[in-house]
Formats: sequence, structure tokens, C-alpha cells
Amino acid sequence: RIVYVNGSYVPEEEATVSVFDRGFLFADGVYEVTAVVDGTILEFDGHVQRLERSLRELDMDMPVTRETLLEIHRELIRRNNLEEGMVYLQVTRGEADRDFAYPKAAPQTLVLFTQAKSLVDAPMAKQGLRVIAAEDLRWARRDVKTVQLVAPCMAKMLAKAEGKDDAWMVEDGYVTEGTSNNAYIITKEGSIVTRNLSNSILPGITRAAVLKLAAEKGMAIEERPFTIAEAQEAAEAFVTAATTFVCPVIEIDGVTIGNGTPGPLTSRLKELYIDEGRKTAL
Ligand code: PLP
Repeated sequence: RIVYVNGSYVPEEEATVSVFDRGFLFADGVYEVTAVVDGTILEFDGHVQRLERSLRELDMDMPVTRETLLEIHRELIRRNNLEEGMVYLQVTRGEADRDFAYPKAAPQTLVLFTQAKSLVDAPMAKQGLRVIAAEDLRWARRDVKTVQLVAPCMAKMLAKAEGKDDAWMVEDGYVTEGTSNNAYIITKEGSIVTRNLSNSILPGITRAAVLKLAAEKGMAIEERPFTIAEAQEAAEAFVTAATTFVCPVIEIDGVTIGNGTPGPLTSRLKELYIDEGRKTAL
């Protein structure tokens, strides 16, 4: 693979970042993941806007302009012949002597790489996920997409240890989100329920796109917290994320949802999202 590090395109074996990088020492950095389908990038501007916001919340600036970022994405896709998969982007506060206080003028580190992966025909998307409930042990600013991901990694491993696919994290009795996706249920009355935006969850770019499409189609939407017990009674359940699109959930903490196969509304939303994503891809 050819990766991008601070202005250079280099083979991955030659790419280096300092051991003093604050991203490495303090998880002092943010990231974005965008999906690539047919060699084009889905929801690029949404991801750039969220990146700007994450950086601002951590007192950092954009390392390069939106236009330059788009150029880097396209160049990496080209150099790696990427048809389908993802582009990962990380910005850290960069290299400095180890100290909790950071120098205002620390040089940022910007790294991007690609990963090929089947997204549109991913098997899990057809089958549906089995999720467990796990305590949400993350920090209180989950709206900022930092690289501090060990808590969701542990939750995901709890799920794997039980032979399941993912965890829905729970705080004060209510589901926040999945380890790397936003969580939804569809009530028996046909209403799409997903947690309202706040510091408790990441404002998913896919979430925004899917809710917009659902609203345009006249579907009922309730943005509010829900419990695992309510989810287990739901007609359908699903998750959304950049590289999983709309992915059905067929089991929650041991309870089968609906008849245990992806639900019709979930499948419709998935198709709507992929169609619209392709149309607006850059
Ligand atoms: N929630 C969390 C915790 C995530 O890590 C992610 C994506 O990685 C999402 C939600 C979904 O966000 P997006 O749709 O922008 O990929």
C-alpha cells in the first residue's frame, strides 16, 4: 500500500511517525473514515465538516484545506487502485516533549491510508448482526471523534467472546450507540427510534443522511433514548456507519428481533442510502 504522511506518499513500510507524537502518547488526535464505492468517496463533505468540528473542540486547526484533503483522498484511491473499501484519516497534535500541557504551535501529524473491503455486498449486511449489551465506559465527549478507542475495543471483544458481532453500549439504562456505529430500532408502529444528538454519542454522518432520506419518504422518526428492553420488543433494529451503511441487527442480548432476518424497512433504508450515496459521491 501507498500511504500518506505529512505531505508525502510513501510505501507503508517506509512511513514513520515520531514516538513522541501526542497521538501515540495521549490519544491526542481525531480521525475520520469514509467509504469508497466504485472508486468514489461517499459523504465527503459531511466527514470534512465533522473533522473540522472535532479539531475545533480539541483546540486544533485543520491541517490542510478541504480541497487538499479531497485531492489526497483521490490520489490515495488512484495509487492503490481502490475500487471499494475505506479511506482512514488521522490528525494528531503532533510531536512534542511529553507533558500534559501542549505547545500551541505543535506541528500536527496528518496520516491517511486506504483499506480494500467489500462493502455493498458485505455478508454481515445480508445476514444481520447479533449484538450484546455492554456498559458504556467511554469518556463524556463522545461527540468528538478522538482516537481514544480502547473502551469500545473492549466492548467489541466482550461481544466476540460470546460469539456475537458487536455491542450496544448502555449508560444509565439507555443505549448510547454501537462500538463503531449509531443504533436504531423500528417500533411495531413503524417509527424509527434513535438516540438524540448530545455529548453522549457521535453525530454519525450516515445517521444524518439516513434520517434525512427517511424524513423525505415520510417515515416517522423519534430522536430519543431507548432501553435494551424496548429494543428487544422492536419490529426491526439496525446500525449505521460510513462503511457498513445501514446494517440490520437480528438479535439483542439473546433476544431475536422480529423473525430473525433483516426487516423490510431496514432493507429499504439501506437501498435508499446506497443509491443516494452513489449519486452524491465525489
Ligand atoms: N458511533 C461511533 C462510536 C462510531 O465510531 C461511528 C463510526 O465509526 C459511528 C457512530 C458512525 O458514524 P459515521 O456514520 O459518521 O461513520
